[in-house]
Amino acid sequence: MKTLPSVDVVIVGGGWSGLLMAKELGARTALSVVVLERGGPRKTADYADDMDEVDYAIRLHMMQDASKETVTLRHTRSARALPLREHIAFLPGTGIGGAGEHWAGVTPRPLPDCFEILSSTMRRYGKARLPEDHAIQDWGVTYDQLEPYFTRAELLMGISGKAGNLRGKQIEGGNIFEGWRSAEYPTPATKTPYFPALFRDAARSLGYHPHPIPSATISQAYTNPDGVTRPGCTYCGFCARFGCMIGARAQPSNTLLPVIEKHKNVSIRTGANVRRIVHEDAGGKSRANGVKYRDASGEEILQPAELVFLASWTLNNTRLLLLSDVGEAYDAATGRGSTGRNLTHQVEIGAVHAFFKQPLNLFMGSGAAGIHVSDVDGDLLDHSALPFLRGGFFLAESSTSRPIANFGVVPPSVKAAWGAEWKKAAVEYYDRTGRIGFSGEHLAYRENYMDLDATYRDQYGDALLRFTLNWRENERKMVEFITPKAVEIARAMGATEMIPFQGLGNYDTRYYQSTHIQGGTIMGASPSNSVVNPYLQHWQVPNLFVLGGSVFPHNPAVNPTLTILALTLHTADAVVDRYLKKPEALA
Ligand SMILES: Cc1cc2nc3c(=O)[nH]c(=O)nc-3n(C[C@H](O)[C@H](O)[C@H](O)COP(=O)(O)OP(=O)(O)OC[C@H]3O[C@@H](n4cnc5c(N)ncnc54)[C@H](O)[C@@H]3O)c2cc1C
Repeated sequence: MKTLPSVDVVIVGGGWSGLLMAKELGARTALSVVVLERGGPRKTADYADDMDEVDYAIRLHMMQDASKETVTLRHTRSARALPLREHIAFLPGTGIGGAGEHWAGVTPRPLPDCFEILSSTMRRYGKARLPEDHAIQDWGVTYDQLEPYFTRAELLMGISGKAGNLRGKQIEGGNIFEGWRSAEYPTPATKTPYFPALFRDAARSLGYHPHPIPSATISQAYTNPDGVTRPGCTYCGFCARFGCMIGARAQPSNTLLPVIEKHKNVSIRTGANVRRIVHEDAGGKSRANGVKYRDASGEEILQPAELVFLASWTLNNTRLLLLSDVGEAYDAATGRGSTGRNLTHQVEIGAVHAFFKQPLNLFMGSGAAGIHVSDVDGDLLDHSALPFLRGGFFLAESSTSRPIANFGVVPPSVKAAWGAEWKKAAVEYYDRTGRIGFSGEHLAYRENYMDLDATYRDQYGDALLRFTLNWRENERKMVEFITPKAVEIARAMGATEMIPFQGLGNYDTRYYQSTHIQGGTIMGASPSNSVVNPYLQHWQVPNLFVLGGSVFPHNPAVNPTLTILALTLHTADAVVDRYLKKPEALA
């Protein structure tokens, strides 16, 4: 094994969270910072000819190769887990920028009570209403503490949107249910394509409060506080799963790299697959001394460092702690230990597929050009008489119609399943089929968790991560409750036929849900039930920080990346302003 000279900081993972921390440390300190990224380099110019649906959206060339590393899954603790041979339900990214290079750019803020979900639910409904097997807990930070960081993250990406709550004043047209915001969005909302406009008008006619989706694919040219300029969106339609060829969507490669490249104290090493955190434990104290990785040639390398940040997304943040024996692994049988607990996957479904007489022009737009309806999110409904807790939001987007992935959905009146009649109907309905989605909160449960698989191993012989994960009655009842509401909106839009969602059975990896998998290294106010403190510092290893969705104690209905960036900025301030002056526990 080769040992390299020591650096001040090593960051594992070159996605949004890792590169944002690298940018902050590079710009604000003189520390030597090394980012280790397992995939290859990337830049906007690489996407100039990117409209290849087979390569990007079907063969997933920007994503993790499941033949080299995957997870195993079982629904219950007593079942045998089997490896996912393909990534379908969620798509782990790889390479510089991570999944942020091919995300959809939907960037709402979570409702304020998400951060205090246990306290607020107990206050309103009492302990008896909590699901039997729940593991929900407060996050250890409040929305008010994070508000300035949400604002900074929005400024960084130039988010387009319309405020619905400016310093407590409700503004029609924006999301009037959102938490207070200290500033309007940096850029105006994007254009509303035809199908989302139909949805908006129908939802409004039914008394809902539709509002434009906050979007990291921006409506007009924008220069952020770091001096990085990006152009406005051209609504080309090739968005999520593709790199943005003009750089209108905020991606780590076009938003963070231009700044990082100016700071000589930061270097990025690609093809560096980190396998272990090296640490010493003596006298009840632990310290990280660096990380071990394999370079592209397979050679094992030790990179010593004073400060270690994990930013390798939910799966590898959790797996690296487990493989390295850092902290205590969660044991679902006894409830002891924390690493691996509170695995969640946002409840994301096509609540209804609706068929129309007229074309919907769904081939143009962007992954976030559309409309949300948040009237049923969080605890906005009174759940006293409802058979579930919490909620989510409805969404209608454009750019959902790609010729290969989205071809072949026909209405129930078409009885043929193949042949000339089916083909004719499939062509007819290709651009006449719209989807009203629903994105719901996923509570944490004691028996939904991650640990190391005893049987299956990756390309290097290390144990795969094992998911024990299934839906509970809370999610099933929530979906049962909202589906008829989506049908009602589709009817008001003029849909001629519909296919409503058939209900959540077992957790099913055969269809894409979202890449919003959280938990495993959760944050909290106490070392007894969390892995990291509110500054994302490991409770037992003070020079180790963990960034990303793995720190979410449960899964709010909204997409996670804005919150991931806000928490990363919160940690960067704590490290620069406090930890570097006095390296000790921050909480
Ligand atoms: C198709 C798609 C659409 C999405 N749309 C949205 C959306 O609209 N809104 C939203 O909020 N979120 C969305 N997401 C999710 C969003 O992309 C992620 O939340 C975000 O990218 C997470 O950033 P991260 O830096 O924490 O992790 P990642 O982006 O996953 O980056 C982690 C990096 O770590 C590297 N890595 C992993 N393991 C190792 C290792 N052992 N050694 C070295 N490097 C390693 C990976 O290669 C990767 O580059 C979407 C994701 C996908 C795939």
